[in-house]
Amino acid sequence: MKFVKFRTLEDEVTRSRLGLQKEASVVDLVAALRAYRFKIMKITADVDNYRNAEMACSSTINFLISRLDEVQGLIETSTGSAIFSTRTARELGIGDVVYPIHDIVLKAPVEPRKIICLALTYKGHAEEMDLSTVKFPEVFFKPPTAVIGPEEPIILPNSAPTKVDFEAELGIVMGKRARFVKEEEAMDYIVGYTALNDVTARDVEFEWGLKQWALSKSFDTFAPIGPCITTKEEIEDPHNLDIKLRLNGEIMQESNTSDLILSIPKIVSMISQFMTLETGDVISTGTPPGVGYKKDPPVFLRPGDVCEVEIEGLDILRNPVEGVLEGE
Ligand code: MG
Repeated sequence: MKFVKFRTLEDEVTRSRLGLQKEASVVDLVAALRAYRFKIMKITADVDNYRNAEMACSSTINFLISRLDEVQGLIETSTGSAIFSTRTARELGIGDVVYPIHDIVLKAPVEPRKIICLALTYKGHAEEMDLSTVKFPEVFFKPPTAVIGPEEPIILPNSAPTKVDFEAELGIVMGKRARFVKEEEAMDYIVGYTALNDVTARDVEFEWGLKQWALSKSFDTFAPIGPCITTKEEIEDPHNLDIKLRLNGEIMQESNTSDLILSIPKIVSMISQFMTLETGDVISTGTPPGVGYKKDPPVFLRPGDVCEVEIEGLDILRNPVEGVLEGE
């Protein structure tokens, strides 16, 4: 399943609905469940379960993730009959159930309390940065305030606008609280995957201090994430996914997650030895070679550019780049 957060063009901009992406359409989960509940009301005792699922889907994405084991089957049934539900929903005044994806505004699909980022996890990137891969990767955080969704602009900060770089990364989304997790059990704690762009101001990172990993990557808008959470069942092998970054259509980074030096269970287990991972937290697994900083000549983001992170099996995360807002 592919979960998204969205609003319709008629909704208040702050409103968020939870949806299920099905190819070029998005099913509104609350509307689908409600329509299905009305349909089955007189013929089954399952009504209360559907009402509970509806409640989970009208809450936050993290709450839905935490209840996914209970509600997954009900979501599958109700969204599977979305065409019927649409007709039922109109008759019942519920409103639309299915939206063409281009007629809605997608938001970042996650609400992490923390984003844990790994660095130097692809051998090729460590080499291009003249930094060796180590047994234990560099770890830093991005604040939740840096998160933006698909199509939202990356804004070049006025204090460091000239050397802003891109990093395509596979994000792990936590499905439940994890602490001291064994490697062989780690996959049970993951709900799925998403794409992330670890946007970085290289001058802050390398010229403002000894190494300013966290600050250089923490500006508002420096954590584009999305467009959806693809559940782990959809991804046969997360250690064999093509990963690319395109800038204005031109491929800048091109690799495969098979080049990661740490497995995903190993990463989750390792981080959980240090801190509690909460439902909805995101672990960004590091970037492959090809970053702009190391190109000859270097390539940095400019107003009007478009960045696309494409990871096999996940949808494309696309973000335009904007200059500093006047007055900021
Ligand atoms: Mg990175």
